[in-house]
Amino acid sequence: MIQLVLRSLFKRPATTRYPFVKWEMPARFRGQPVVHSENCIGCRLCVRNCPSGAIEITKVGEKEFEATIDLGKCVYCVQCADSCPKKTIELTKDFELAQLDRGKLKVVYHAERKPPGGPDESPPARSPSG
Ligand code: SF4
Ligand code: SF4
Repeated sequence: MIQLVLRSLFKRPATTRYPFVKWEMPARFRGQPVVHSENCIGCRLCVRNCPSGAIEITKVGEKEFEATIDLGKCVYCVQCADSCPKKTIELTKDFELAQLDRGKLKVVYHAERKPPGGPDESPPARSPSG
């Protein structure tokens, strides 16, 4: 018995020191889905194919869409990312998503206005104050 205790004292621990030491998730790990809304075309294929009804797409302007993902409903199946024709959704390696308030599990990805870039279009002038 004492032999066993002594041996285990000098053995490397079988567990990690999480959360003090972060664990690198494997390459194909499916964590928090992130929507790059600036590339979204509003086709809603992701909404149609999501098995848990976790995604909402809202039109917020001319060719501008905002995505909301409810992490409390998401089952991290990656179907939305596979369905998106514009490859706008990615599942990150972020897994520390716990919240005490369920409302905080709804993440909104705002549409960012694309900067004007056409040959006939010059960027709007900015005032010194921003
Ligand atoms: S599938 Fe992609 S492009 Fe279509 S609404 Fe969803 S995020 Fe936007
Ligand atoms: S990963 Fe699956 S469950 Fe989560 S939002 Fe995408 S399609 Fe829906």
